[in-house]
Amino acid sequence: MDCNTCENHIQAFLDRTLSGEDLRQFLLHVKKCSNCHEELETAYLVEVAIPRIEAGSAINLDKELSERLAAAERARLIHWVLSNMMRSVEVAAGIVLSYSAVRAFILFGMQYITFFD
Ligand SMILES: [Zn+2]
Repeated sequence: MDCNTCENHIQAFLDRTLSGEDLRQFLLHVKKCSNCHEELETAYLVEVAIPRIEAGSAINLDKELSERLAAAERARLIHWVLSNMMRSVEVAAGIVLSYSAVRAFILFGMQYITFFD
């Protein structure tokens, strides 16, 4: 992901609407690109931190943003694991259905042969 695309995704990240491959690429990019990380910090400050400071809460910007990035990474991994598990379940179901179909076909064939024997 390039810096331009990354910056375009900052709002979606803050809105928690960034997901899948875009989220993965975004997290990788802000981890290694100090400019985009700084952009994210600024956006987080304006969108999240300042309203809370105005409401009287104390905040630790670095800690909260790090936790937010880590939580997004965990959520992305959990989503990835669950979608792969679902794919495995689908494959297993497909195998069971295929086996059942073949078995039914063979049993029907044997009855058919027995019937005309
Ligand atoms: Zn960048």
